[in-house]
Amino acid sequence: MNIETQSCVITGKKQVSVAPQQVKWDGTGTLVRITRGGICGSDLHYYQEGKVGSFEVKMPMILGHEVIGHVVESDNPDLKPNQKVAVNPSKPCGECKYCQRDQENQCTSMRFFGSAMYVPHVDGGFTQYKVVDSKQCVPFPQDADETVMVFAEPLAVCIHATHQAGDLTGKHVFISGVGPIGCLIAAAAKARGAASVVCSDISERSLEMAQQMGATDVIHAAEGDFTPYLADKGFFDVAFEASGHPSSLQRCLDVVCAKGTLVQVGMGGTIPNFPIMALIAKEIQLVGSFRFTHEFNTAVEWLANGVVNPLPLFSGEYDLQDIDAALQFAGDKTRAAKVQLTF
Ligand SMILES: [Zn+2]
Ligand SMILES: [Zn+2]
Repeated sequence: MNIETQSCVITGKKQVSVAPQQVKWDGTGTLVRITRGGICGSDLHYYQEGKVGSFEVKMPMILGHEVIGHVVESDNPDLKPNQKVAVNPSKPCGECKYCQRDQENQCTSMRFFGSAMYVPHVDGGFTQYKVVDSKQCVPFPQDADETVMVFAEPLAVCIHATHQAGDLTGKHVFISGVGPIGCLIAAAAKARGAASVVCSDISERSLEMAQQMGATDVIHAAEGDFTPYLADKGFFDVAFEASGHPSSLQRCLDVVCAKGTLVQVGMGGTIPNFPIMALIAKEIQLVGSFRFTHEFNTAVEWLANGVVNPLPLFSGEYDLQDIDAALQFAGDKTRAAKVQLTF
């Protein structure tokens, strides 16, 4: 069966268009009618710079990895037509040593939606129809708010980040950089039992969003008084660096207590003069966090059950035909947090 679909295709820096394409469904996997998608930082990087880090757009690629929709047809009898699903953008190989250790996010041949890491690139989800592996479809209730469910992927990233810090019950948590990811980490940390969640940023607007997302306190990164958090080698049990700025990492090292944990989530470039002595002397555990594994299912469950309400981050929606305007609005951080597309 061949289906006509309209896709948001990027061909290079500032080059996006809506292109008619053909989708072929041969009876394997699940054919999904994509209804809604969220624009993420990586989509913006592809649009603004034509690349994410060293992954450069070298050929036409469908953007997007935060999408939901409903089943048209599936090889899995449990996925009935019209069943609403959140689409997990990860397709791990299932065979490499990491897949066998349940560490699929480290898969050596991961196929992740809308990524120019490999040539040919892996197409994303900003299209009307897409065939995916049936395992990538996570059902959610018919009456769940679709605007909310689109947050499954970024929330999964954030739940994974909190898992990298171990048990958060009763812990004091600090988050430096509260864009959408920092804010969702705040919500996830609260949901996982943190006693306090203090958020820091240079933007007043971001600090307001963090409060709406469950921060117990906020402090301006440049003008705030951090001295109470510096006593006794640092106040916080866990710090999350979610901005990618070197000064933010330094701040996290200053306020996290000796023997505490620092989770690096923000993607920055290299950090000149990395303050390695603080890491050594305070015996801080520094851990990275990348994508997610089973946390995608947890995120779908939490959103469907109202454990986390992401709507303070929702800034507006555009029709897929207006992809250019949507990307420009989403790139204006003074006005937009999370922007969605409807298909
Ligand atoms: Zn994302
Ligand atoms: Zn693998």
